[in-house]
Amino acid sequence: MEQKIDLRSDTVTKPTPGMLDAMWSAKVGDDVYGEDETVNALEHKLAALFHMEAALFCPSGTMSNQIAIKCFTQPMDEVICDQTAHVYRYEGGGIAYNSMASVRLLNGDRGILTPELIEPEINEDNIHYPRTSLIVLENTVNKGGGKCYTLSQIEAIHNLCAIKGLKLHLDGARLFNALVATGEKASAYGHYFDGISICLSKGLGAPVGSVLLGSKNMINQARRIRKVLGGGMRQAGFLAAAGIYALDHQVDRLAQDHAHAKALAYALAQTSFVESVMPVETNIVLFDVAKHIPAIDVVRQLAKNGIMCNTTSAKTIRLVTHMDVSQSMIDQVIEVMSKLDI
Ligand SMILES: *Cc1c(COP(=O)(O)O)cnc(C)c1O
Repeated sequence: MEQKIDLRSDTVTKPTPGMLDAMWSAKVGDDVYGEDETVNALEHKLAALFHMEAALFCPSGTMSNQIAIKCFTQPMDEVICDQTAHVYRYEGGGIAYNSMASVRLLNGDRGILTPELIEPEINEDNIHYPRTSLIVLENTVNKGGGKCYTLSQIEAIHNLCAIKGLKLHLDGARLFNALVATGEKASAYGHYFDGISICLSKGLGAPVGSVLLGSKNMINQARRIRKVLGGGMRQAGFLAAAGIYALDHQVDRLAQDHAHAKALAYALAQTSFVESVMPVETNIVLFDVAKHIPAIDVVRQLAKNGIMCNTTSAKTIRLVTHMDVSQSMIDQVIEVMSKLDI
């Protein structure tokens, strides 16, 4: 039986034996009472790593982003983000529902915002306008094909926020991919953001979880909001143990995923039915198929060969590499692509 190769997302990974051992032997308690030492250890570990005061373990990246947005806005405020942002497109309308805020969408280059794009969109103080209170960045940019911010780009946006009195939140679902790709330090990040959310269940390979980082005050408020959303978990240390294991053992290996994605992109660029491939920086490959071919036809042909992936538009296909995709699987995908009957 041929093995399936799942390139739909980096969320599909299964825990490694070492991770399962760590989960099995975790010391747990009731986290709603603050008594789960493994959850506490995960929160302290990430807060320290990013030089932030405090952290909160959440069930999903969507919940940690939505909690942050609620902490940083009041009803009737406005949030500024890129038009492709996960917080706007893929969180079910949560900004309106949870925070009663409006959203101003910008058109960044592959989702990367700049002070020049943001500044004209900040509303002046006038009762006709919603009050701009929060900027949300994404790093890496999912819809931007895994593109990374540089720290100097982030610093420039941070400086604008400081002048204008705005909060700055980072949707860092794949922040560790960005850190590994750019070589920048986690400790540099805390200084620039009021909130950072980080997914443990993407490239890091944990089965569940996201961590929200912020100031002590902000995280106290975030803990209340997590509770009201139904996200107060009990012996969550079994899950937090997977996160600690991932941080200790599965960060450096992200470089392999990036090399695999680059190998796929290189091969795709020589493939007849491919029109263009977005430059690869991390673990996401976005490519457009030639004009006359619907992307869904290519996805179906790949599926017949045991390769699973998704379209992101009528012309665009996304491949995501992760720890359950080996070098030999990448070789097989490249081989199948070169022989595809399209
Ligand atoms: C996956 C992802 C999230 C969070 O998703 P969950 O499935 O809720 O954990 C947030 N932002 C980005 C950019 C993502 O890719």
